[in-house]
Amino acid sequence: MGSVISDIECPNCHSPYAYNDYYYKTGEEFTICSDCGYYFAYEIDRDEKSDNLSFKTTIIDKPYGSYSISGIKSGGGMMGSLESKDQLDEIINAYREKIEPVVSIKLSRYINGEIFIKEVFNTEKYLRIKKLKKISNL
Ligand SMILES: [Zn+2]
Repeated sequence: MGSVISDIECPNCHSPYAYNDYYYKTGEEFTICSDCGYYFAYEIDRDEKSDNLSFKTTIIDKPYGSYSISGIKSGGGMMGSLESKDQLDEIINAYREKIEPVVSIKLSRYINGEIFIKEVFNTEKYLRIKKLKKISNL
């Protein structure tokens, strides 16, 4: 499907690198900022059962942050927008159970005009701590 990908200024944190994907054939548009987690989607509402084409808009304009996951078995990375800290905790818990070879989850947040990035989960560290806990229970 034809789309134009470009970097645009993020309306929330003003980073010049918000990812914008515009599908000129359908009129759909997606924007996501990996610095602050701003998310915008204007897309065809595929759940709508009427014959007329209808669109829906989803905006997360006051995000908690964004997450990025690297080291997944399949090779590629993953990133997404977070509306709350609970969402981040859910993702971290899911990876605790999966235990892929090396997974690092980073959180990026926009707070008081600045971007803060930190690693919030790392499989190797997690396994080491788990092992140490076992040893200390002996
Ligand atoms: Zn942003």
